[in-house]
Amino acid sequence: MAEQDTSARRTASAAREAFMKRAEELWDEFNAWYDDHPDATFDEMEEELGLQRRTVLGELLELSLQRRDLGAGPEAPACERCGRPMVFKGYGRKKVHGLEVDAEIPRAYYVCPHCKVGVFPLDQRLHLRRDSWSEGVVREAARLGTTQPSFAIASETLSRLTHLGISESTVWRHHGEVAGAIEQKLENEEQEVPYLFSWSELEAMEWVAPQRPVEEHASVSIDGLTIRIREEGYREVKMVSVSEVVVVTEGEASSEAEMGTGGREEEGVRGGADGLKLVSHSYRAVLGEPGWPSERLSCGRDNGWKSKRLCISCPCGAKSEARPFGR
Ligand SMILES: [Zn+2]
Repeated sequence: MAEQDTSARRTASAAREAFMKRAEELWDEFNAWYDDHPDATFDEMEEELGLQRRTVLGELLELSLQRRDLGAGPEAPACERCGRPMVFKGYGRKKVHGLEVDAEIPRAYYVCPHCKVGVFPLDQRLHLRRDSWSEGVVREAARLGTTQPSFAIASETLSRLTHLGISESTVWRHHGEVAGAIEQKLENEEQEVPYLFSWSELEAMEWVAPQRPVEEHASVSIDGLTIRIREEGYREVKMVSVSEVVVVTEGEASSEAEMGTGGREEEGVRGGADGLKLVSHSYRAVLGEPGWPSERLSCGRDNGWKSKRLCISCPCGAKSEARPFGR
């Protein structure tokens, strides 16, 4: 397809007609295949449709966008650098691979004649990335990169479920990008949010915006262990979890018992209190620097980390109040 075309937009009726024609073709192709495979199972039929799904849905998405302005609004956008109006240069196409859809999207391109910078307003509106992956693909690749045993297995899982050809190195890159952004966010939070303060200081701390504050009772657990890192020696890993404590209603308790999922006995063994459960968990784990832990999350009397479990107030008896970390 041409790199640029000047008549990418379509009238609503032309776009509809184009999609109906494509739907008819799909009907004919699929039924021709089914006539050749009359004993096909549901899975086989789905597999056959799945091969076409990504491109057919992509065409539906492209045609729907073509009915609209493709980013070519009535007024040219202003240049971000100099503020002068930019000049329309035609429509450039961009391939986008999403979780469900492969599309090739035409969108208006503007250039500032003074600064020579270009912009695709539709990319900003649709949240298209610089590369050809959708935000959803990057999010799921990062999730699988974290939860699956390896990036190779993560890429295989994602490819199988989405019919999207995504390599191990791409999953690794997406995972790194999302993990980096999360690390940056945590870093900023740590700079901004004091890790301990008392309720008497609460008013002065109103600038700290809790993301999902615990309304009544919180359970705070802290634990740590030492791990050996190659070429570095032993370092401490510390982890804190904050959960909201809620009362289990009678209905919930009996349905859990019936389903065999709640396991009241099991809760008892694990030290849970009857009639209570923990929800909305937040965690943070940190690889400690030498000399870091005791000053970092104790009440200031240098014994915070020596406790295996720390609940709200420090074991030394000081009344410190911990605020939950952001989720
Ligand atoms: Zn400019």
